[in-house]
Amino acid sequence: MITAQAHINLDAIRHNYQVLKKLCGNQKLVAVIKGDAYGHNAIAVAKSLPNADLFAVARIEEATELRDAGINQPILLLAGCFCSNDIKQAQRLNLDIVIHNEQQLQDLEQVALAGAINVWIKVDSGMHRLGVQPEDVANYLSRLKRLNAVSEPVSFISHFSCADNTECGTTQKQITAFSKAVENTQGMKSIANSAGILLWPNSKFDVARAGIALYGISPQSDSIGKDFGLIPAMTFSTRLISVRHHQKGQPVGYGNAWIADKETTLGVIAVGYGDGYPRAASNHASVFINGRTAPIVGRVSMDMVVVDLGLDAQDQCGDSVELWGENLPIESVANAAGTIPYELTIQLTSRVYKELA
Ligand SMILES: *Cc1c(COP(=O)(O)O)cnc(C)c1O
Repeated sequence: MITAQAHINLDAIRHNYQVLKKLCGNQKLVAVIKGDAYGHNAIAVAKSLPNADLFAVARIEEATELRDAGINQPILLLAGCFCSNDIKQAQRLNLDIVIHNEQQLQDLEQVALAGAINVWIKVDSGMHRLGVQPEDVANYLSRLKRLNAVSEPVSFISHFSCADNTECGTTQKQITAFSKAVENTQGMKSIANSAGILLWPNSKFDVARAGIALYGISPQSDSIGKDFGLIPAMTFSTRLISVRHHQKGQPVGYGNAWIADKETTLGVIAVGYGDGYPRAASNHASVFINGRTAPIVGRVSMDMVVVDLGLDAQDQCGDSVELWGENLPIESVANAAGTIPYELTIQLTSRVYKELA
């Protein structure tokens, strides 16, 4: 019997792409599938989106796997290349690369390429992580224009630091700074991530980039994907492997971290931090079983979690238990564990069987 499994609903991902594309207006929409599509299987996701305008990944190895799998759409390498050999490889694979610092620019100036390559200048509009300072953009652009292998026109990308917070003034400042940095240039411009697409209609340029929302998850901690018409693509579930009576005053699990304040029935489910279920959810999160939620009691251990089923529980060993997904928003589990859904979907371990449908 399969216990811990993640069911990946590729129709949901197709639906979400369409919902987001609509919100994007005239923009192209990049499907961000780095990190094995946030744990959803990058090749399967890419194959299920034959109409996606572009894909984006973080590392050249991720892009290579996609090309090897026969994915032919444009692929944007979000942080660019980190050595000359990678630039050659990127050109051979027809990847779009990002330039965000002097070293990358020099590497590109010095490398001998077999053909043309598409380049995006990453502009630091206020996140101050990666990026060319706005006042240096003209210089980067003129140096790139001198290079025969660089396709014209060069495009521009920037990234939001706080777009999940609609109260924060940073996002508007970034939009303004980006507009100003790229004014009077030709190439495509892109700044919006999922939060930009969903929450900042004035963040539209030529291209938007959706990661988390593509998987049906809200980028905010106080809303869920459904609030935006998105469908959660991953349902993580397991099985009940033990049901037993538990007396008032008895503790449960490591460290006696929970003590029953009344008589009840406890269930043990086959999942733990060894599957990627967050240990920080101990005593905080709930699971969904037989049409209702049941709280986790005591500590999450490597292979097991204990849940309080209530005194009159009728649940049986073998019953399916949802940890997040269709019936239980991952956003609430992430909140309970003091983290974000991004970390939860990506950290499922190889022990979890992923079913693609
Ligand atoms: C990961 C990433 C995205 C996608 O962000 P989401 O919040 O998941 O939509 C977009 N742009 C860049 C540069 C990224 O690194």
